[in-house]
Amino acid sequence: MKCPKCGIENGSRSVCLKCGNFLNNKNVQRETDPEIKKQMQRTRRRLVLKSCTSSFLLMIVAFVGISALMFAIFYFLFRDMEWPTDAELSSEMASIQESEAATESVPAQTTVTIAD
Ligand SMILES: [Zn+2]
Repeated sequence: MKCPKCGIENGSRSVCLKCGNFLNNKNVQRETDPEIKKQMQRTRRRLVLKSCTSSFLLMIVAFVGISALMFAIFYFLFRDMEWPTDAELSSEMASIQESEAATESVPAQTTVTIAD
């Protein structure tokens, strides 16, 4: 295409070889049309809004997904864990107190015996 400034033929180039002028291609020419310009702005705004909404949704989905994943991991980790019952805890407590009483009654004994 011919440069409108210096008139040199530039073929399909978007910048003039001689003067560096930006050559109007079809898209740029269309953008000068106020009606289409308005429409393009509207489309651009809609695209920005769309990308914002989609990224926000993605964030929420990711958050919920990570929460669910963490819950599942902890659920399966601790599901099969055998927690001590109250009776086991109290009997263990009694044995600890017993051994403590035994070491107190014999001051010479320095080693602490650990009950099985
Ligand atoms: Zn030129």
